[in-house]
Amino acid sequence: MKSRGVVLVIEDDQDIRSLICVILTQMGFDVHAVASGAEGLAAARTLHPVLVTLDLGLPDIDGHEVAHRIRDLSEAPMLFVTAHAEPDDEMASMASGAAAYLTKPFRPKQLMELADMLCPAEGTAPVLLTP
Ligand code: CA
Repeated sequence: MKSRGVVLVIEDDQDIRSLICVILTQMGFDVHAVASGAEGLAAARTLHPVLVTLDLGLPDIDGHEVAHRIRDLSEAPMLFVTAHAEPDDEMASMASGAAAYLTKPFRPKQLMELADMLCPAEGTAPVLLTP
């Protein structure tokens, strides 16, 4: 199966990072996951991702700052993933260049729908990989 492209996953929570990776891999993306903003910026420079999922609560750099810097490096749509559900956060995220917004805890289906919306598949049905 042809890859749908590289998704850069920036998420410091290991459980959520694993979950996002499993879901996106099953959808046919090549997933590159990192746990900090600095690693995310380095990866965004070199990987040419088709989609970036960005946790706003990162240990090193503020998520919105990471988003602004990625916007300078990449045209990829950014899916923000955050524990905060305040309307102000959503507004700030849109201002930071978010294409979509996912609040933790999220259901796998929500992530799949947003990934399909931001990076539509080319006609083929998704193939589920067996572990
Ligand atoms: Ca976090």
